[in-house]
Amino acid sequence: MKLFNTLSRRKEEFKPIEEGKIRMYVCGPTVYNLIHIGNARPMIVFDTFRRYMEYRGYDVNYVSNFTDVDDKIIKAALEEGVDPTVISERYIEECKKDMAGMNVKPATTHPQATKEIQGMIDMIQTLIDKGHAYAAADGTVYFRVHSFDGYGKLSHKNLDDLEAGHRFINVTGADGKEDEFDFVLWKPKKEGEPSWPSPWCDGRPGWHIECSVMSKKYLGEEIDIHAGGEDLIFPHHENEIAQSEAANGKTFSRYWVHNAFLNIDGEKMSKSLGNFRTVRGISEIYDLQVLRFFMLQAHYRKTVNFAPDIMEAAKNSLDRIRTCAQKLDELLAKASGTMSDAEKDSRNEALKFMDRFNEVMDDDINTADAISTVFDLVKFVNTNATAESSAEYLQALRDELFTLTDVLGLTVFEKADSGVDADLEAYVLGKIEERKAAKKAKDFALADAIRAELLDKGIVLEDTREGVKWKKK
Ligand code: AMP
Ligand code: ZN
Repeated sequence: MKLFNTLSRRKEEFKPIEEGKIRMYVCGPTVYNLIHIGNARPMIVFDTFRRYMEYRGYDVNYVSNFTDVDDKIIKAALEEGVDPTVISERYIEECKKDMAGMNVKPATTHPQATKEIQGMIDMIQTLIDKGHAYAAADGTVYFRVHSFDGYGKLSHKNLDDLEAGHRFINVTGADGKEDEFDFVLWKPKKEGEPSWPSPWCDGRPGWHIECSVMSKKYLGEEIDIHAGGEDLIFPHHENEIAQSEAANGKTFSRYWVHNAFLNIDGEKMSKSLGNFRTVRGISEIYDLQVLRFFMLQAHYRKTVNFAPDIMEAAKNSLDRIRTCAQKLDELLAKASGTMSDAEKDSRNEALKFMDRFNEVMDDDINTADAISTVFDLVKFVNTNATAESSAEYLQALRDELFTLTDVLGLTVFEKADSGVDADLEAYVLGKIEERKAAKKAKDFALADAIRAELLDKGIVLEDTREGVKWKKK
C-alpha cells in the first residue's frame, strides 16, 4: 500500500512500525457547536482509511480527540450562562450521533483534553528541563522553536524565511516571548475561564500540546499515521512534531496524511460568509450515506465543492447501487442450486473488480476510482444476474458487492448481513472499541466487564485472528 506523505511530499510504500498493527491518530473537532460538513470530511476519509486497513488484515488502534477546552467553547458557555463542560459534553454527544449517521466507526479511544491535563503538565516540564521551553514572567510557557532543528520539516517552511517575511511586525519581547514564532504551551487563566493549577500559574494548556500528549499516552512515542485536514499542517502539526520529538527524542509519526478542503458553492466555507452547513442540517434533507458517498467520490487530496446539484447527483448514484443490491436480494430469494461451469467463469471475471478495487485503494486510498470500480461491478451484475442464475452464483456476486461497499462504509443492502438494526450495531461496535482500549491499557477487569455487559444483552463476542466478531446469542 502506498500513501502520500506530507513530510516527503511523495507517495511512499507504507510499512508499519510493528508487523500487522497500525497506530493512527486523527485530530478531532473542537466541540462548541454541531459539526459542519467540512469537519465531516476528515471523519469520513480517515474512517475509510481505517476500514480498508482492517479489511487488509491490520489491527488498527485509532485515536481521535475532542478538543474540549478552547476560546470558542468558553464564549459559547458565557453566552448560555452555563459551565463550559455543559457545552463540550453536549456537542460531543451530538458529534457521536452525526458520526453514527455517517457510518463513521467510534475510535478505539476518543480522549478529551480536559481529562489529560496532568500529562500535558508533565510534557511541558520535560520540555523546560531539556531547554526547549521557558516560562515568561506572567506564567505563560512558550516552546522555543529555535531549539528544535527540524522545525518546518512538515510544512516545508524555513524559520529564517518566515521571520524575514515578518520582520516589519516584530513583536518579540513584548509579552516575554523570545521569538515571534515561539508558541504557547500553557497560558495563565483569565477571569471566568476554566483553569488548572500548574508549576507556572493557574491556567490552561495551549491547543497543540494536547495532541502530542494524547497520542503518546494512547499510541506510544512513535506512531504510524497522523492525520487531519490540510489547514492543520501549519502551525498545528508542525508544532506537534516539535513538541513530541523534542520531548521524546524519537520520530513522532512516520506518515502524515492530510485531506484537502471542502468548499461550498465554489467558496471557502465560513461562518462569516453565512454559507455554513452542518451535518445535522444535511441529515434533514438526505440520508447521511449520501454525504458519505459524496465525500468518497473525490480523492481525499483534491478540493471538493459542495453544491445542492452535486448532492442530488450523489443521491442518484448511490440509488443506482442500492437498486442493484435490491435486485440481487430479490433474485436470491427465489433462486436455488449451485454454480454452473459458465457461472464459475463469470464469477471469476467479476472477481477482477475486487482486484481492481484493491489496486486503486492501495494507491493512496483512491476512493474515487474505487467507486468507479463498484459501478463496473454494478453494471456487470445488472447484465449477468438473472432469474435463471443459481443461488450460489448470486450469493457470490452479493458477497462481492457487499464487501466493496462495506469497506467504503456504504450500506447499500436493506438489511446488513447480520440482520440487525443500525443502532444496535453502532452500540456493539462502540463497546468492542472500548474493550479493545481497556485491553491495551491492561485493564482486563474492565475488558471482562464489557464482555459480560454485552452478554447480558444477548451479544456474544468472539476474538478471532481477523479481530473481534460479534453475534446474537
Ligand atoms: P476544527 O474543529 O476546526 O479543529 O476541525 C476539525 C477537523 O476538521 C480538522 O481536521 C480540520 O482540518 C477539518 N476541517 C475543518 N474545516 C474543513 C473544511 N472546510 N474542509 C475539510 N476539512 C475541514
Ligand atoms: Zn491535533
